[in-house]
Formats: sequence, structure tokens, C-alpha cells
Amino acid sequence: MNDLNYKNKKLQFAKADILTIAKKHKTPFFLYSEKILTQNYLSFSNGALAAGLIDPLICFAMKSNPNKELVKILAKLGSGADIVSGGELKRALEAGIPAEKIVFSGVGKTEEEIIFALKLKGKGLNSFNVESIEELELINLCAKKLKRTARICFRLNPVVKPKTHKFISTGNKTHKFGLLEKDIISTLGDKKYWSHSSLVGLSVHIGSQLLDLKATKKALERLCEVALKTNMPIEFLDVGGGLGVDYHPNETHKLPRIDTYMEIIATTLEKHFYSKSKLKPRVVFEPGRRIVAKAGIFVMKVLRNKISEENHFVIVDGGMNDFMRPSLYDAYHALIPVKEAKASKECHIVGPICETSDCFGSNRLLPELKSGDLIILKDTGAYGYSMGSNYNLRGRPLELLMDQNKKLKVINKAQDYSDLT
Ligand SMILES: *Cc1c(COP(=O)(O)O)cnc(C)c1O
Repeated sequence: MNDLNYKNKKLQFAKADILTIAKKHKTPFFLYSEKILTQNYLSFSNGALAAGLIDPLICFAMKSNPNKELVKILAKLGSGADIVSGGELKRALEAGIPAEKIVFSGVGKTEEEIIFALKLKGKGLNSFNVESIEELELINLCAKKLKRTARICFRLNPVVKPKTHKFISTGNKTHKFGLLEKDIISTLGDKKYWSHSSLVGLSVHIGSQLLDLKATKKALERLCEVALKTNMPIEFLDVGGGLGVDYHPNETHKLPRIDTYMEIIATTLEKHFYSKSKLKPRVVFEPGRRIVAKAGIFVMKVLRNKISEENHFVIVDGGMNDFMRPSLYDAYHALIPVKEAKASKECHIVGPICETSDCFGSNRLLPELKSGDLIILKDTGAYGYSMGSNYNLRGRPLELLMDQNKKLKVINKAQDYSDLT
């Protein structure tokens, strides 16, 4: 459990006592650790350097957790951002990430978002990661009107199938993401796309929660091949994000280590690109989950028990509107009682939302849990708050940050009725 341990039969997260925190703050809430977040970021950036990658740029995938205070911490460590909307662009800039460290991904960039990005001072974004020919045409047109030059990176659809949940798999023809090689090549000679744009990079991102790196390696080989074929002076190769975490204990032995991941990238790029080209493009990364998932937990309180013959339900005050992964992807997250006691019962931990899928775990062996007891959902720093909603007109929960000195800070207030307009 590492960052979650019992001391005197009470659960601690990164050495802070959860019961004490919950006495001062209303549940449910997300609790993040600056220490874990920092360690995870540094293992990425140091790992890339250790593998000999040139001038690596880590662009934190903002959609995994766009909380401003968390992004500020990453910005101070030197992080860039992978953004997918104008809202995320504004947030990244406010948090102190310079435009030249930002990559703009996504298949549905609007004209308004493109103009916002093109109007930024200085050299502008690191790149627009372009996902269709029509998008390229629009960006070039907007840049022309604004008398700018847009920095373009093509997101290649490498046509590979990673082993992950079908909803978070993105690297095949049937997915809406990326461009096929032939379509990328077909734009290159055509002036109508490039009067106010220049190709500066190529990217891949084949999916999320990847634990098997075979497809990643294949995708990187494709990335290199196509990058060479463009015969353009590209400045960077963007290897995407997607590196998984061990949500389930069964996944721990499969979990790719950061140094293994970096080694695969370094050797594949050397063999398939650097050794064949005069160019020395830098490597860009877009990790989200691996940096922030384990930096957060979700703390809930038991409201009551309900027994329907053999089904024992423990009803908690957090719901699928606060944390959606179990109901959306049938994702497993460990549930850990805050008071240590012997597990004695199989039960279903369910929220208050009027949906059967509002269940954080079925048939979990847990100690007896009474009204008022606390229970945490583990590894909820990524795709937690950011995917939440006001469904059932519930207020969004509190977010708390424990800083390096174990000082607690409210980094997002809970919504109350007056916020629900
Ligand atoms: C979501 C996303 C990421 C981050 O994925 P993780 O699994 O959180 O690392 C990176 N790049 C793009 C284009 C994405 O859409």
C-alpha cells in the first residue's frame, strides 16, 4: 500500500491521519498529496533523462486533473501541458505553464479555441496536434487572418490495438483519433494547407491505462517511419501518454516501470529514427494518469447499511457523480476502511445516486461498517474530479491538498445549494 498505512489502527495517507482531517472537513472529499505528485512527475522527467533522451518535455495531460493548485506544482517542476480545450488552455497558462510547453490535442477544436491559441504572445503553442485535414485547413486559415504561423504536429493513427478498455483505446482505424499515414503524406505538397503553418512534429497516443507495452512499441515504430517519410525538419516526436497504474493488486506484477518504458522509447527511437536521420528531434510525453492517479484518494462516510436477503449494501455519501470510473468503465478501485478491523463481510459499497451503476465495489470483503464510519476509494487522483458532474443536482465535492510540510489546504471548495443555479 506504500502511501496508505495503518498507525494505531487508523488509516494514514502519505503519513497524514485521515480521521483527523475528516473531523475538520465535510465528506466526501478528494485528498491529494503534493509529495506523491512531485515524486511521480520527477520519476518521469528524471527517467527520460536517465534513458538518454534529448531535452525531454513532459506535457501533463490536464484532463486527468486540471485543479489549478496541482497544475501550479507541476508547472514549478518544469512541466508542460497537454490540453484538449480552451478552458484547459486558460487554466494551464494561469497555473504558470508557458505557451511554448503546451500541446493542443483533440478532434474537435473550435474556431474560437484555435484563435485563442493563435493569439497568444511570443512563439505561441508548442503545437496544435492536428487530428484531421479539415482541422489543418481551418488552423492555416485562422493563422493567415491573424498573420501568424501555426506550429503543426500531426497525430498519427498508427493502426494498432492495445490491450485496454475499449472506451479508452484510441489507436485504430475505427477510432476517431489521429490521421492515417497516407492522409498525412497527401497534405505535404499542397500549399493551401501550409501558407501559414509549418510541420514541426508528429505524435501518437494509442490509449490509456496501458500495462502491456507491445502496442506502444509498434506505435513508436510507425511514428518513426512516418516521421522519416515526411522528409520535413521536425523538431519533436511526441510519444503520447497512456502509461497505466496498478488499480488492482493483480495488476502490480504487470505494471511497467518508468525506466523500462523510457528504455523502450529510447531504443525504438534510436533504431528507427535517430540512426537514420540527421535530425535530433526532442521527445515529448503526454502522461496524465501515471502522474496523478496515485496522488489522490476519495474519502467518504457511511450513511447506513441495508440488507436485501443475501445482498448487503453499505450506502456511502460519495456517488458516481463525484467519481465515475467504476460506473463508466467498470473500473476496479480498492476500498479501504479508515478504522482497521478484521474483514468479516462481503458487501456492495454503493452511492446515493439513482442508478444501479452507482456502485464503487461489489462483493468486497470488508469489516463491519456503521453509520458515520469512514471509507476511502484508492487511486482517485486521475479522472476523478475532472469527470465529475452535478448529476442528481448534487454539489461537487471538496478538494484538499496536503503540501510537502503536511499542511492542509483547501484547493477547491465544496459546492453548496447556492452554487447550484
Ligand atoms: C488523455 C490523453 C492523454 C493522457 O492519457 P493518460 O492515460 O492519462 O496518460 C495523453 N494524450 C492525449 C492526446 C490524450 O487524449
